[in-house]
Amino acid sequence: MDPRVIEEIEKHFKATYGNSSSLHSLGQKAGQVLTKSREIIASLINAKRDEIFFTSSGTEADNLAIMGVALKNKKMGNHIITSSIEHHAVENTCKHLEEEGFQITYLPVNKFGLINLKQLEDSITDNTILITIMFANNEIGTIQPIEEIGKIANKHNIIFHTDAVQAYGKIAIDVDKMHIDLLSASAHKLYGPKGVGMLYIRNKGFREDGESYIEPIMFGGGHEWNMRPSTVNVPGIAGFAKAVELVKDEMEIEIPRQTRLRDKIIKYVLENIDDSFLNGHPTQRLPNNVNLGFKYIEGESIVLDLDSEGIGASTGSACSSKSLEPSHVLLAIGLKPQDAHGSLRVTVGRFTTEDEIDYFLERLPHVIKRLRELSPLTKRKPKVDK
Ligand SMILES: *Cc1c(COP(=O)(O)O)cnc(C)c1O
Repeated sequence: MDPRVIEEIEKHFKATYGNSSSLHSLGQKAGQVLTKSREIIASLINAKRDEIFFTSSGTEADNLAIMGVALKNKKMGNHIITSSIEHHAVENTCKHLEEEGFQITYLPVNKFGLINLKQLEDSITDNTILITIMFANNEIGTIQPIEEIGKIANKHNIIFHTDAVQAYGKIAIDVDKMHIDLLSASAHKLYGPKGVGMLYIRNKGFREDGESYIEPIMFGGGHEWNMRPSTVNVPGIAGFAKAVELVKDEMEIEIPRQTRLRDKIIKYVLENIDDSFLNGHPTQRLPNNVNLGFKYIEGESIVLDLDSEGIGASTGSACSSKSLEPSHVLLAIGLKPQDAHGSLRVTVGRFTTEDEIDYFLERLPHVIKRLRELSPLTKRKPKVDK
């Protein structure tokens, strides 16, 4: 977390401890903090204050969007379109609906991780009730043509959800211009606290004719306009709003700064380490994301060796790094399983300095060389018998 966010949360833990649903003035004070936070969080994506619904995470927001639309509209159709590179929060929700009788189209992606717009439009049927396609990919950083996807959804009158957990706070988003109906975000991806997320719901879940297009998936009290029950996490949400304020202030400097560090890593590695390659799109990618492939070795070994050098990196996704399956994202962009195993995800952030990047680039070639010397897959000169 950004220390300024921690300070803000601490302040609210101490002073704003009322329950925002209570009538007494302590509760009212908490309610005001909530309203102000909603306003700030909405303003980053050109949404209205009351279209922000707080959840416990990005995962919950994805579940609410997809399950909520599927269950509400099942009489109108049972077809959902998504991509083959979604975060597990979307992918596994769709898989669950598939078991419940819904029909899911998993659009393929090209070698950069981009979906094909014509293929998207061609896969729409009379039964299609939802298009859910992520804004930016968490493993390879590829940014989808969201505005074009939104236009297609809008033209066919289909609800459009985007998992923007990686994009919110990192790149510019306008829900109106991009025709987005539902958008998920999570505070911890932008230096806010873990366990705080939100779902943007266009027009609070009502179509132009007044019919609702989404229903809750949890049941309890009437919080968040009956869309998401349970006592609201006011300090966490105030921290989320503080994180958004910081992003708004610093985006203009941070996007070009991080992009430059990102490109410095990519350029150095591709020029100086043999049999290395970039995963994802060279330019249409998140400013902070690098995903590299190294032949003959395993990403997990690179991560552990880098860790002993004081560098924290990851393989595919932090959420799945404990499974030994190759990343579904890297397979979807066409990598062979053995090449998908040799991937390394490196992200830069607000607190990453140029010196740290230089240190990383100094250590990485040694790590790769050492691991390749140990690898049975590396082509080696035959040993000379003594
Ligand atoms: C991190 C992430 C999520 C999950 O968010 P949580 O708040 O950790 O549940 C969902 N989608 C994407 C793209 C992510 O990067």
